[in-house]
Amino acid sequence: MSRRRLVLVLGDQLALDNPALEGFDPACDQVLMIEAAGEAGWVWSHQARIALFLSAMRHFRVELEARGWPCDYRALDAGPEPAGPASGEALAGPPDPEPRTGRDPAQGTGDFADRLAQALAEHRPQVLVACEPGEWRMQQALQAAARAAGVPLELRADTHFLCSRDAFARWAQGRRELRMEYFYREMRRQHRVLMDGDAPAGGQWNFDADNRKGFPARGPGPIPEPARFPPDALTREVLALVRRRFADHPGSLDDFAWPVTRAQALEALQHFIEARLSSFGPWQDAMWTGLPWGWHALVASSLNLHLLHPREVVAAAEDAWRSRDLPLASVEGFIRQVLGWREFIRGVYWLDMPGLAEANFYDHQRPLPAWYWTGDTRMACMREVVGQTLRHGYAHHIQRLMVTGQFALLAGIRPQAVADWYLAMYVDAVEWVELPNVAGMALFANGGRFTSKPYIASGQYIHRMSNYCKGCAYRPEQRHGQGACPVTTFYWAFLDRHEAALAASPRTVMMVRNLARLDPQERQAIRDQAGAYGDRLDAL
Ligand code: SF4
Repeated sequence: MSRRRLVLVLGDQLALDNPALEGFDPACDQVLMIEAAGEAGWVWSHQARIALFLSAMRHFRVELEARGWPCDYRALDAGPEPAGPASGEALAGPPDPEPRTGRDPAQGTGDFADRLAQALAEHRPQVLVACEPGEWRMQQALQAAARAAGVPLELRADTHFLCSRDAFARWAQGRRELRMEYFYREMRRQHRVLMDGDAPAGGQWNFDADNRKGFPARGPGPIPEPARFPPDALTREVLALVRRRFADHPGSLDDFAWPVTRAQALEALQHFIEARLSSFGPWQDAMWTGLPWGWHALVASSLNLHLLHPREVVAAAEDAWRSRDLPLASVEGFIRQVLGWREFIRGVYWLDMPGLAEANFYDHQRPLPAWYWTGDTRMACMREVVGQTLRHGYAHHIQRLMVTGQFALLAGIRPQAVADWYLAMYVDAVEWVELPNVAGMALFANGGRFTSKPYIASGQYIHRMSNYCKGCAYRPEQRHGQGACPVTTFYWAFLDRHEAALAASPRTVMMVRNLARLDPQERQAIRDQAGAYGDRLDAL
């Protein structure tokens, strides 16, 4: 039957106020939702990431149907019985001894495009309507499929974000450097967030200096648990499907408890605001063994699926500050992540794609060590962060930036392999947010397009911000020799390699001043140690 409009809802656009659904008429329009195996396979996705997308999509379909809106939902079937043992019990369960790394060129948008083409042929709509996709490659695929089917495509601007792609491009135009801080201040002014008249609340824009504490030596103390949601029947069905069809994918489903509906996402947000936001600020950079969540909000996956709107997240935090007198440093630090960084990163992504995906400023070419997929390393910090990532599909921003991210930068790993790993492993990862954060922020692969320096530190930083080093085979203060911390060795070798460039910038000149204090023999010993470690990254 020919439909007036076929309205495509993508898996990361699960909001009833999705602009593609505006003006939807159930009498003559039809929603289309597509599950595609290629989306799970083009990077080797964590089982929890696949399950979260599928479960949230299926719950959204139920919401649409409860409204009486017809939905052509093209579900994945469970597929054939896997040949090897099921990996549901294992943290990382690739049955083959050679875990797949990086991207699978045989997968990607291909089967999504095929399923879309099939739907277009069956429905023969007058127009295909969609909200602009979050990812560049999906936009290309959508446009190509509509063109091939001869169906006009109406892409509507994504109202989920507080700064449109065009508005960001206007802000960026003519700026030599893109700096989040200036963008953030404009967003605060424009959206009247944490403002006191024309001035920032509390007399300053940014309270970062108050927000960098490590936990005391006795540990973090009691922290209220975040809201978690035991799988309902629909989610359990998805978990069974993922265990069967994606049995060789990394990660565990045993602790899956992510919000999969808007109602759950709102509950999780409320719980964070009431129980955890007050202490989020000072401890947001702190890490501790066995503490995957810290004081963090865990709302990124709900935001990135569009179960939550950033406006309501920001408003909830600001309301709590105004009505309950929560510490401004915590509230501002959290709001900056949502209103500032998240919007900024999305703007940069659309400005710099597709080139950003290939950026490699330092020409780093080493492959990703296999233990990124298993956690099987003697480096306690990496074992801990990769381990909790495999268990939950989650690590907080400092774990991602200063543990797994900075190691990859210092060790000279190819940025594309690193970016693919992040995209695969985190439940909140979609390319528009993951790629600029990894390539731009963590790896400096775009040469400082929006950061003034590479974010690097020696193992001493990890020692200061966590208890990881206590259980480690290496020593954080040691630069070379037996037991030298690989993070520390690679850090000093990085400074040595890039001494001239780092000395030329006022932001990094202090780092290399310390390097100049080392005698030539020590510098050579660091180079030798870094070379030896680099030759056997898999064995660290
Ligand atoms: Fe990580 Fe180095 Fe500390 Fe070990 S000693 S936990 S490798 S920073």
